[in-house]
Amino acid sequence: MAGEPQDDCLFCKIVAGSIPATIVRETETTVAFRDINPQAPTHILVIPKAHYENAAALAAGAPELAADVLRETRAVAEEEKLESYRTVFNTGSGAGQTVWHAHAHVLGGRGLEWPPG
Ligand code: AMP
Ligand code: ZN
Repeated sequence: MAGEPQDDCLFCKIVAGSIPATIVRETETTVAFRDINPQAPTHILVIPKAHYENAAALAAGAPELAADVLRETRAVAEEEKLESYRTVFNTGSGAGQTVWHAHAHVLGGRGLEWPPG
C-alpha cells in the first residue's frame, strides 16, 4: 500500500534505524541525512518517513508530506548556512535515480552550474 515501509528499500531501513546514517535533522514525518557519496561540500538527502517511489508519487499520494519534505530542505540549508543551494529530485533511472524512495538532494557549498548535466 502507498506509504507503507518496503522490506527491500534502503531508505526505509534508514528510517527504521536498521542501517546507519549521519542524520542531521528529524521531524515526525521526515529524516535528513548526509549523502554517503557527496557531490558537493554539503550534500544532504531529505526523505519522507513513508515510502513513495518518487517525488511525483509523493506529491500525488500525500501532498502535505511533500510539503514537509520541501520545508525541511530549507531548514537543512539554513542549518548548513547555505546562501545558495540546489534541490534535486531525480526521477527514473535515466535521470540517475538509484533509490526508489522519494528523496530531495540538497546540494551547496560550491558553485553550481546551470544547466546541470
Ligand atoms: P538517487 O541516485 O537520486 O536515487 O540518489 C540516491 C542517493 O543515495 C545517492 O546520491 C547515493 O550516494 C545515496 N546513498 C546511497 N546509499 C546511501 C546510504 N547508505 N547513506 C546515505 N546515502 C546513500
Ligand atoms: Zn522506502
